[in-house]
Amino acid sequence: MAKSLLKRFSQSTVVSVANYKSIFARPRQHFQTQKQSSNLILAVKKENHLYPGSGQVQGFGLENFFYNTLTLNCVYNCDYCYLQGMYPSANQVVFVNSIDFLDAARSAISARTNKAQPLYLCISYDTDLLAFENVVPYCREWITFASEQTDLLLEIRTKSASYRSISDLPVTDRVILAWTLSPEIVASKYERGAPPVHRRLESAASAAKKGWPVRLCFDPVITVPDWKSHYQKLIETTFDAIPCRSVRDATVGVFRMNAHYLDRIRKQRQNSDILYSRYEKEGENVSYSKEQRPEITSYIRDLLTRHLPPERIEVWT
Ligand code: SF4
Repeated sequence: MAKSLLKRFSQSTVVSVANYKSIFARPRQHFQTQKQSSNLILAVKKENHLYPGSGQVQGFGLENFFYNTLTLNCVYNCDYCYLQGMYPSANQVVFVNSIDFLDAARSAISARTNKAQPLYLCISYDTDLLAFENVVPYCREWITFASEQTDLLLEIRTKSASYRSISDLPVTDRVILAWTLSPEIVASKYERGAPPVHRRLESAASAAKKGWPVRLCFDPVITVPDWKSHYQKLIETTFDAIPCRSVRDATVGVFRMNAHYLDRIRKQRQNSDILYSRYEKEGENVSYSKEQRPEITSYIRDLLTRHLPPERIEVWT
């Protein structure tokens, strides 16, 4: 991977460092300034090739829930993205030692606690791997890997319209292709750099038509003015584009973020109203209030139950 990337970017200046953290984790970097012209960092991740899944995402009752970080940061720049508060740098890190990540997944499959269920592994958790596929073909590598494993279920979550970059691969039910969908008003205002929703839907519809298990993620739901009618329209448009029988399942979650990350983002960034709404702090996280959250998620869930049975809808509350 390192060789092919160096060849692809042969016109770039290469600076060698002993440890990527000496660049990536430098203090006093400005995330949004750096995001305007980020650099590519090729690195070796020496440990933590797998993490246990967090309560911040929906696991559909799958107990052997893990995620990994094949890259750090994302080609998109959503206003509500917690990566701005989590990482000191906006530079894009690609870990080139995929063999270690694959080995860790193999070991975790063997060691999983609930042998009746597969290892459920999200590989596009803190990034958008499919959006980056034309640079680093990790989705291809992991889909091929999953096809060869009997007890693995991968989730690849994306806002991209890049299904075409993997459309030649044989369909496997061991990989869920998950599209995050937002009303156009939310996408155009807060999901900077990501394709418009109709293009994501075209991509998801192509994947569903070919037989891929497709997940629809209405997450984070943002309560823009008149949010109910915007989400109603989105869900109608979605199921006009993708027949419900072709949808594996759907997830719903409201905006939420680690409070410390939000504080850090606010210190660097004043140009997004979404970061300055009144949120309620609960434990380490901020989100809409306890009263608002069930109202929001019930509304979206009710819209979805017109198309999907309740057991195929998972809600983060
Ligand atoms: S697509 Fe996801 S990971 Fe990428 S910037 Fe948006 S919220 Fe962050």
